[in-house]
Amino acid sequence: MISLQNIEKVYRTDTVETLALSSVSLDIAKGEFLSIMGPSGCGKSTLLNIMGLLDAPTKGDVRIADQRTESLNDKQLAQFRNKKLGFIFQSYHLINDLQVLDNVELPLLYRDVTAKERKQLATEALAKVGLSNRIKHFPTQLSGGQKQRVAIARAIVGRPEIILADEPTGNLDSAMGNEIMDILMQLNQKDGTTIVMVTHDENMAHKTHRLVRLFDGSQVQ
Ligand code: ADP
Ligand code: ADP
Repeated sequence: MISLQNIEKVYRTDTVETLALSSVSLDIAKGEFLSIMGPSGCGKSTLLNIMGLLDAPTKGDVRIADQRTESLNDKQLAQFRNKKLGFIFQSYHLINDLQVLDNVELPLLYRDVTAKERKQLATEALAKVGLSNRIKHFPTQLSGGQKQRVAIARAIVGRPEIILADEPTGNLDSAMGNEIMDILMQLNQKDGTTIVMVTHDENMAHKTHRLVRLFDGSQVQ
């Protein structure tokens, strides 16, 4: 489902050059739940951003869902991302002046879906994360765990094949973190969604199928 071959990423500015990733190769099967761990600054977010086609590698080959991505232009990349990938972030990235339902509908605005279908799909996604009773709330009226559940609903509303999660439980206490983890595991097991998760939490990582560790831009196992 995701294939990275010999990925190198160098961030360059006028004065500094940072080697963020060095010959990373990773094949992730359809239906796999993979976690990525490693110390701060080792390249985890960079790797996830490359898988999410938010950033391009300096060298190497990226294939997502059997598609070689280097030949896609920005518009095609945006469409591909919107259709195939769902994103979840540590800090939720909800829009505070939109109600929960409208937040969840956002990814569908770029698709050929009527307003009525949008509402229905968003309502279904919110039911899946157990938040049917919060659809008219604003994000500021929710707990951290509830906000993350809204973010998951937004990530799955377009039925992506892949979810990329950057420390999804990083801002949550362990009870709420476990709830989020249970939802991700259900999406993986019931819907067969491929999930890649960056985490600092060994307990969360050990619930996934496979753990990849990075150190200083290189894979250590
Ligand atoms: P992690 O997610 O593991 O904390 P990152 O992928 O964010 O690590 O960063 C990896 C390395 O790349 C770090 O040394 C960081 O300083 C550097 N880096 C990340 N983003 C940029 C950027 N936009 N410009 C320059 N260097 C960056
Ligand atoms: P952190 O792990 O420091 O909290 P975030 O999880 O907020 O970082 O974001 C991780 C990465 O995703 C960052 O590089 C950020 O620029 C990018 N990003 C954040 N929000 C979005 C978004 N809505 N769409 C695309 N990229 C985003």
